[in-house]
Amino acid sequence: MERKLKFATECVHAGEKPDPVFGAHTTPIFQTSTFIFNSVEQGACRFAGEETGYVYARIPPNTPTHAALSEKFAVLEGGETSQTFASGMAAITAIMLTVLKQGDHLISTDVVYGCTYSLFSEILPGLGIDVTFADTTDIENVKRALKPNTRMIFLETPANPTLSVCDIREISALAREQGAICVVDNTFATPYFQKPLLLGADISLSSCTKYIGGHADLLGGIVVCSREFMKSLAKVVGYTGGIMGLHEAWLCIRGLKTLHIRMERHAENALKVAKFLESHPAVEWVRYPGLPDHPQHETAKKQMIGYGGMLAFGIKGGIEAGSKLMNSVRLCSLAVSLGATDTLIQHPASMTHACVPEEVRGKVGITDGLVRLSVGIEDPDDIIADLKQALEKI
Ligand SMILES: *Cc1c(COP(=O)(O)O)cnc(C)c1O
Repeated sequence: MERKLKFATECVHAGEKPDPVFGAHTTPIFQTSTFIFNSVEQGACRFAGEETGYVYARIPPNTPTHAALSEKFAVLEGGETSQTFASGMAAITAIMLTVLKQGDHLISTDVVYGCTYSLFSEILPGLGIDVTFADTTDIENVKRALKPNTRMIFLETPANPTLSVCDIREISALAREQGAICVVDNTFATPYFQKPLLLGADISLSSCTKYIGGHADLLGGIVVCSREFMKSLAKVVGYTGGIMGLHEAWLCIRGLKTLHIRMERHAENALKVAKFLESHPAVEWVRYPGLPDHPQHETAKKQMIGYGGMLAFGIKGGIEAGSKLMNSVRLCSLAVSLGATDTLIQHPASMTHACVPEEVRGKVGITDGLVRLSVGIEDPDDIIADLKQALEKI
């Protein structure tokens, strides 16, 4: 049997094919909307799905640039196939339209990305889909939320912004027992640290805007699934059209070549910053899945090989002190989004999660005092020095 390549090697090589015409070393941007058929018969076969090949850039597999990215990412996540999207939200929307019909029930992690929460709480009910938000860190809550018509369990782990973690293996098995499918938003962990499909999930999705692109310069999303599920998803993609831009696809291919190196450094820095914050007298609490006092540290240890670059913390003196801190940083940027090379700091209650109703935020732990940090790949001493000088100002 052929020896399986290691993750770092796949980051660099998977999906890359030498250009047979001109010998281009990197995957070209195929800036074309349509593709020429050799014959009427070939065109008919492609439309009938009897022959794989390119047809029109909206219709999967879109273009060879998109296909190279999809192939690379599927290999990295240990899945059969994948599909790229214009954004993480376009990816989530396509999954919902593929799986859920009027009268179906969806169970979702209660702490999810703000727009995911809004999509599930404002848009899906209007389509006749029943949605229950549950604290998925405890499987008993998921069992209690189950209904005969539960079609999907949607997990975000680690969750944005509280960094809570839920057990993908346990909940995927429960979903299977119930005839439901388990979908995981893997944006925070990336395939470098966590591979949801290998833990039993049916579908894994990521916002490429974050660590996949990795440089805060693009919007994109990606879904990894079985070839069987892709048949249905590809139809929704073709009919709705929220595909990734070509230049973005090319940038994601480039970003993925350094994913392993960046993630290692993000995580190393995040642990150092978390330990510094823990030791600082002005800091009330720190939440990072890699710290032994994280409530689901054992679950994280079971299903992740590292803990990522995201952390949350609370300052003594609540939101007022937190605002002073965020207004006093110099090296860190006060900005939403995450997974950039530089360190980003933001306030979820007034920014990324302002769309979540206040009483829900309070209940799930998105408190007014919570500060979210996306730790970059700078020298950790400089990140810590910046936070230290800002903490002295409060
Ligand atoms: C940002 C984000 C999304 C949405 O992705 P976009 O690319 O911004 O549409 C979804 N889930 C998580 C966890 C995110 O952080």
